[in-house]
Amino acid sequence: MAPPSHCFVTVDVATDNGALPAAPVMVDAPQQKLQCPNVLDAEEFRRQGHQVIDFIADYYARMGDYPVHPSVTPGFLRDVLPTDAPRRPGPDAFGSALQDVRDLLLPGMTHWQSPRHFAHFPASSSTVGALGEALIAGINVVPFTWAASPAATELEMVVVDWLGKALHLPESLLFTGGGGGTFLGTTCEAILCALVSARDQKLAEIGGNRIGDLVVYCSDQTHFSFRKAARIAGIQRDHCREVQTYHGDMFALSPTELQAAMQADVDAGLVPLFLCATVGTTQTTAVDPVGELCAVAASHGVWVHVDAAYAGSALVCPEFRHVIDGMEFVDSFSMNPHKWLLANNDCCAMWVKKPCALVAALGTEQEYILKDAAAEGHGVVDYKDWTITLTRRFRALKIWLVLRCYGVDGLRDHIRSHLRMAEAFEGMVRADARFEVVTERHFALVCFRLRSPEKLGGEKTANQLNRRLLEEVNAATPGPYMSSANVGGIYMLRCAIGSTLTEERHVNDAWKVVQDRASAILRKMEIIYSVLG
Ligand code: PLP
Repeated sequence: MAPPSHCFVTVDVATDNGALPAAPVMVDAPQQKLQCPNVLDAEEFRRQGHQVIDFIADYYARMGDYPVHPSVTPGFLRDVLPTDAPRRPGPDAFGSALQDVRDLLLPGMTHWQSPRHFAHFPASSSTVGALGEALIAGINVVPFTWAASPAATELEMVVVDWLGKALHLPESLLFTGGGGGTFLGTTCEAILCALVSARDQKLAEIGGNRIGDLVVYCSDQTHFSFRKAARIAGIQRDHCREVQTYHGDMFALSPTELQAAMQADVDAGLVPLFLCATVGTTQTTAVDPVGELCAVAASHGVWVHVDAAYAGSALVCPEFRHVIDGMEFVDSFSMNPHKWLLANNDCCAMWVKKPCALVAALGTEQEYILKDAAAEGHGVVDYKDWTITLTRRFRALKIWLVLRCYGVDGLRDHIRSHLRMAEAFEGMVRADARFEVVTERHFALVCFRLRSPEKLGGEKTANQLNRRLLEEVNAATPGPYMSSANVGGIYMLRCAIGSTLTEERHVNDAWKVVQDRASAILRKMEIIYSVLG
């Protein structure tokens, strides 16, 4: 490869007072003997790359040694780091920065890859996912139009269809069926893209001046990203209907209640616009009945989006097909392969039935964006017209690698291993009469609580008791780390099994910690209650 004829330098062209000029100086390399910092030097990259891979491999190998949640206090890191960036790199700057990652940063991390991390839905990791990210960063293309990176655009079109088929999505959402998909960073972006498409489609029908009449719908369990998207899309804050859910329905959105809410709005002269249904809610993995909700929405001309950020990965297993019954009627669907499908952060996959609605809302026609006339009419897309941002990452490469290297069967095995462990954990909870499983387990999240004995206050003290239990469980070293949900007034512990490194023994250990802490708390409370009479 030919070297560049000139380069930017940061050599000592010092001013009188010894200060360096603020901006780099451009010089012709052959005439001046100046040091050229080639920051894409292939040999240096090889050397640093080996250091990084060794570093990460050691991190994975020692993951079990780290306490999953650090015991640090706010400011612990800011107090030890310099307040300014270095003017010049020190000797072996990269090596010493890596050492700081090891000595300063890792001890202050919550280790999401820890086998004892059960608090949140997983940040799914695999070696192929991590190396896919490295390839994306190294190749570093910007596939905003087909012409800007033909192979990246076409790979994305192929891989979203591969993934859609692997998840058993209906043909109507795939490119092969007239729909299509794309890879974004997060579900928040996906919902916003779908919502502005629905908004513009509706306003084209009823007139742009009626934006203040539009109403959107979700349940009280829908992720906050939907409310945020509604605000950004210009929906009035009091036009977001959060339909109440109930324990008796396992916190799923009721079609009857939805119909009542929509009809009330129609009667008030408002315009129902958009429903965000969820398959696998964040707190308890409730599953909204997609088909029935679509029927209600259709009668009011409402766009339906299904958010399956976490549970979408489970659709790779055919035994979960029933949770998306009616999916052929939805307008858009999104899920996060970075949550549970071995595709390291970040990646949200979104599919739409009518890509033209996305393009109508988000497309741009500026001349300065390179278009390629040869691509016109050949069924390829300019992904900048499907999303909010112009600059985009080549995420399709990572998903392609994950699908090629693990295969659909490998992904099923991965999901099923977590499902088996979750089932075992649930069984252990049920076998101890002091505890109860609060909501039906659909996937690999178990929501449970300690029953509060009548003599200790019964239901009145149950939430307080379980708050205390969670605190004590999370104070255990080296783990586990769990979280809580508070739904319908019931405080419960969440044990989300999904870390790639989690094995049965970690789940058994976690349960033992829960039992031990519960016994200690109950003992203490009994003593206090007996002293108080
Ligand atoms: N929707 C659901 C159901 C989620 O559980 C989450 C996060 O856990 C989100 C949306 C937000 O996802 P993202 O961070 O990709 O925007």
